[in-house]
Amino acid sequence: MTNEALGRLYVVATPIGNLGDLSVRACDTLRSVDLIAAEDTRHTGALLRHFGIQTPLVSLHEHNEHQRAGDIILRLRRGLTVALVSDAGTPAISDPGFDLVRAAAAAGIVIIALPGPCAAVAALSIAALPTDRFCFEGFLPARGAARRARLQALVNEPRTLVFYESPHRIEDMLKDCVSSIGGERSAAAAREITKLHETIYRGSLAELAARAGRDADFARGEIVLVIAGAPPAPDEAGQMLDRALRPLLEELPLKQAARLAARIADVRDNEAYKRALALKGDP
Ligand code: SAM
Repeated sequence: MTNEALGRLYVVATPIGNLGDLSVRACDTLRSVDLIAAEDTRHTGALLRHFGIQTPLVSLHEHNEHQRAGDIILRLRRGLTVALVSDAGTPAISDPGFDLVRAAAAAGIVIIALPGPCAAVAALSIAALPTDRFCFEGFLPARGAARRARLQALVNEPRTLVFYESPHRIEDMLKDCVSSIGGERSAAAAREITKLHETIYRGSLAELAARAGRDADFARGEIVLVIAGAPPAPDEAGQMLDRALRPLLEELPLKQAARLAARIADVRDNEAYKRALALKGDP
């Protein structure tokens, strides 16, 4: 139950690079609310200056969110309107905001979404990998062993996987993806989305890992990694085909790998070709 006499909390998405992506409605809301709760007041201050907005700011970041959420709820209870923003993209998506949204919901405050940029959705929309079902995994653990354990838990996940990663860890992360998930799985790495150096790299995980190792630009700027989901588990005959296909796909073009695997597993070329596509994550 919500109480209309209370204030309102607006959860406002902001640009992930290109300031032209701030929606007209987001701009109007940031201008008209009583207060903006921002992850970094200096960062958001620059955005507000660009749009000539003078609304007061208060900080709400990962280290003060719990306590600051309580202060903001008190103001909302007094009838003030508050906008929540993070440095870039959608608040509460691998960013501060969840504690405040949860506390506001518990206090019966009306919460309004102002949707807009989100790096995960933007990357998924251009990855050319299945989008009908996907699984947002945010940031993997920074340490190798924990990261590999999380990846191994995802090996059989059939939905497309979406990860955030910092530029200085992307090469190690891709190597761990190859060792945990297998190098043949199709993937896409979208960097600097909406910015000057926006680039999308598409290929198998092994190809992306190799590219990350030799191309200094790969790890420059912000990056989202999208990986095709696991193909459906094969029957017994199919298992033999998979055993033949996996190493061949690492070394050979898809058609050639499929033709050889078909001979090894004694299946039709067409069947091996379809399975090779599935293993690479192409629907
Ligand atoms: N809340 C944000 C959102 O809605 O996308 C995500 C914030 S999270 C702290 C930052 C991560 O998002 C980066 O490490 C990167 O993985 C991804 N990211 C943010 N902006 C990006 C961009 N312009 N291009 C590619 N990835 C981006």
